[in-house]
Amino acid sequence: MVTNVPTIKLNSGYDLPMIGYGTFGGKDAPHQVYDATKVALEAGYRHFDTAFLYETEEALGKAIRESNVPREEVFVTTKLWQTFHKPEHVRPACEKSLELLQFDYIDQYMMHWPMAWEFRGYEFKDIKVKDENNDIKCIDVPIIDTWKAMEQLVKDGLVRTIGVSNFTIPMLEDLLRKCEIPPAVNQVEIHPSLPQEELLEYCKSKGIALTAYSPLGNPGYSQGGVIKTLEEPVVLQIAEKYGKTPVQILLNWGVARGYAVIPKSVTPSRIKANIEYFKMDPADVEAITAIGRGKPVRTCDPVVMFGISNDVFSEHKK
Ligand code: NDP
Repeated sequence: MVTNVPTIKLNSGYDLPMIGYGTFGGKDAPHQVYDATKVALEAGYRHFDTAFLYETEEALGKAIRESNVPREEVFVTTKLWQTFHKPEHVRPACEKSLELLQFDYIDQYMMHWPMAWEFRGYEFKDIKVKDENNDIKCIDVPIIDTWKAMEQLVKDGLVRTIGVSNFTIPMLEDLLRKCEIPPAVNQVEIHPSLPQEELLEYCKSKGIALTAYSPLGNPGYSQGGVIKTLEEPVVLQIAEKYGKTPVQILLNWGVARGYAVIPKSVTPSRIKANIEYFKMDPADVEAITAIGRGKPVRTCDPVVMFGISNDVFSEHKK
């Protein structure tokens, strides 16, 4: 099916559809993503998000290869896990993702988190690196060293676009000063409890596209303080005005603000409904942005998730 979903022209020259499909879903996702991706392709999705961590690359790649959608029409992002940050581990990690996807190239390879952990091997079991005290051993690998190895992947034709995820403005500033190929995308958490206005303006000014993860605030997940996005009165009121669902309003709020959104669902009716694009009045966009202004709350707080007390993420608290 052809949709009217707009695209963003990336600084790498490729087009990123602004409504994509996320594949992170916990322990059941590897089994659910094959069927869900087939539904998504049929519904018109051409932008898919995975990561080595999610264990969904294999199912996603299989569903895409078996479909009648030409490979060239699909944009797939996958990500480098932080146990692979040493330059000599970057290419083998990328090759492992290519092998799981069974692709000749990756559309976008992204640095998943701006920190490096001890390497223990290239299998899924090797990337869970908490020790007996539940601590993670960080290692000192400068971001630019990992990035240079990622730049080489573009030069060698394994990857078309490189991006980052969970980067703050100071991290981007530093990378932009040192890199040869600038990041095309920064994938970060954005929803009404975390509108990320400053980061959005900064990225626009530097020609870096944003992709919003957890664009619905991941309803159902224990949300330490994130508003119930689908029950928020402002969102409900705007949904009624447009005759759309709250989820469709949240996704099109993101598109109207100029970034891509990658909602995850394994429910066919939701997958189909989530890709409906429509324009929203600037006043309605602003009303949703105002909900979380000045009181940011995350579902994916690295300090909480990884148990790392790290000054690197102090910017996330702003
Ligand atoms: P989302 O905000 O996309 O929420 C997913 C949840 O919303 C699921 O429980 C899903 O349920 C439900 N849902 C989806 N559509 C609807 C609907 N129409 N009505 C009601 N409920 C709905 O959260 P995620 O955290 O999954 O983020 C999306 C994607 O972003 C991930 O899958 C992953 O690809 C990426 N991501 C990247 C991160 C990074 O560090 N770079 C971190 C986290 C996510 P159901 O499936 O049962 O339908």
